[in-house]
Amino acid sequence: MKCYTTPLENYDSSLFTYTKIKLLNKSGGIIMIEFKNITKVYGNHKAVDNLNLTINDGEFVCFIGTSGSGKTTSMRMINKMVRPSSGTITIDGQDINRIDDIELRRSIGYVIQQVGLMPHMTIYENIVMVPKLLKWDEERMNKVAHDLMGRADLSLDLLDKYPSELSGGMQQRVGVIRALAADQNIILMDEPFGALDPITRDALQRLIKRLQKEMNKTFVFVTHDMDEAINMADKIVVMHEGKAVQVGSPKDILMNPANEFVRDLVGEERLNQASFDYQTVENIMRAPVKINENNTIGQAAKLMAKTKVDDILVVDDEGVLTGRIDMRALSKRHSRNDTVSSIVKKVTYIYNDTAIRDAIFYIQDLSHRNLSVVDHNGRLAGIITRGDIVSNMYEAFWTDYEPENEEDDFTLILDQYEKVSGAVSQSEIKNESDES
Ligand code: ADP
Ligand code: MG
Repeated sequence: MKCYTTPLENYDSSLFTYTKIKLLNKSGGIIMIEFKNITKVYGNHKAVDNLNLTINDGEFVCFIGTSGSGKTTSMRMINKMVRPSSGTITIDGQDINRIDDIELRRSIGYVIQQVGLMPHMTIYENIVMVPKLLKWDEERMNKVAHDLMGRADLSLDLLDKYPSELSGGMQQRVGVIRALAADQNIILMDEPFGALDPITRDALQRLIKRLQKEMNKTFVFVTHDMDEAINMADKIVVMHEGKAVQVGSPKDILMNPANEFVRDLVGEERLNQASFDYQTVENIMRAPVKINENNTIGQAAKLMAKTKVDDILVVDDEGVLTGRIDMRALSKRHSRNDTVSSIVKKVTYIYNDTAIRDAIFYIQDLSHRNLSVVDHNGRLAGIITRGDIVSNMYEAFWTDYEPENEEDDFTLILDQYEKVSGAVSQSEIKNESDES
C-alpha cells in the first residue's frame, strides 16, 4: 500500500507494518535452495568459485553473465548433474547428497535450450512425457494437460494434433507448459529462449513468468540477456569468472551495480532509464513545515505567519504524522490555547520509497496539491508538491502512465478519498482561502 487517506479519529498504525521476511526452516520454509561455499574445479580452473546463495520458495532467480562464467555449472549442481568439488547444496533444508540421485532429478524440472516437441507424438503425449515416466495414472495426466492448456490459452482440441499442425508460437507455448507438467516445485531452465526472435521470446517470457507466479514454482533460469533477467527475475545472480559478483533484485542491480563489470553488463542506457524508473519521492521531497500536536493553536498561527505556509503538518512526540491543519481550521471558533490536536484534519501520505512516477499519478489523479511523505514507521519525512514534480521534467509520463500492480491500491485510495468527510481536495481549500 503506497498511499492512504488516514482517518485521524481511528488512526491505524498497522498501516505502517513492514512485511518482514521470516526465516523458517524445512518444509514450508521459505529457503528452497541454498548454495554453501560451493566450488567446482575442472583441472586447475575454477568453473564456480565459492558460491553462496539462497533461493527462496516461489522465487524466480536468473543467473546472468558472460559465456564461461559458471552459470550452467552452478545450475547443474542443483540436480547433481555436476558434483561440487567442495561445499554443500541444500534443498528445503536437506543436503542433496542425502537424496537419491534419481529421486532428486525426478523432483526437479530441467529444460535446456528450447528442446523441440517430439514430432511423432501428439501435443497431449508431448505434454505428459515426464508424468508418464513418473508413472502417473491417465486421469491425473489428463487433468494436468487440460489445466495447462487452459492456462496457456491453448484450445483443448489441439491436444490430439501433432506439432506440425500448430503454428510456431503455439508449439513454443506447448514447450513451456510441458516444463511444468510434472508438477515439480523447482524448475531449472538453461537459456531456453536462446535462439528465438525477440517477439516470440517476449511472449514466452511473459507466459513463463505468469505460470510461475500462478503455480508458485521456484525457477532457476540461466540467460545471457540482461533484459530477459530484468523482466523475469525476482533475484539476479551476476556471474563473472565463477564468482557471484552481485546478487540482488533487478532494481538493486540497476540502481547499485556492484562494480565496473556489472555496470558494463547492464549498459549505460539501462542504467539511465532505471535512474528515472526507480527514483523515489525521497529524492525530490522537501522539508515540511510541521508542528507538534500538543502545541497551541496560537503557536500554529504564528508558525503560519512566519513561514507563510497555510497548510501545516502535525506530528506527535515520536514525529509520526497525525494530520494537518490549515488556515480555515484556525479561523473557526477555537481558543488560542486549545491544542493543535483539537483541530487537526485528515492528511494523505505516501511512503518515502514511492516511485516518483507513482507519486505523479497520485497527485494528478487525486487532485492533491501536495502529499506528505512518511517513512515506514509513519514518521513524517517530507512533503512533495505539484511544483516539485513539474520541475522534475517528467511531464511525458503524466498522460499514459499507471503504476504497475497498483490497481487495487488505487481503488482503495479512491474509496477512502470519497469516504473522507467533506472530501475537499487541498487545492480547493487553497483556492477558497485565497479568495477569503
Ligand atoms: P556458462 O554456462 O556461464 O557459459 P559454464 O558453467 O558452462 O559457463 O562453464 C564454466 C567454466 O567451466 C568454463 O570455463 C567451462 O569451459 C568450464 N567447464 C564447464 N564444464 C566443463 C567440463 N565438463 N570440463 C572442463 N571444463 C568445464
Ligand atoms: Mg551455459
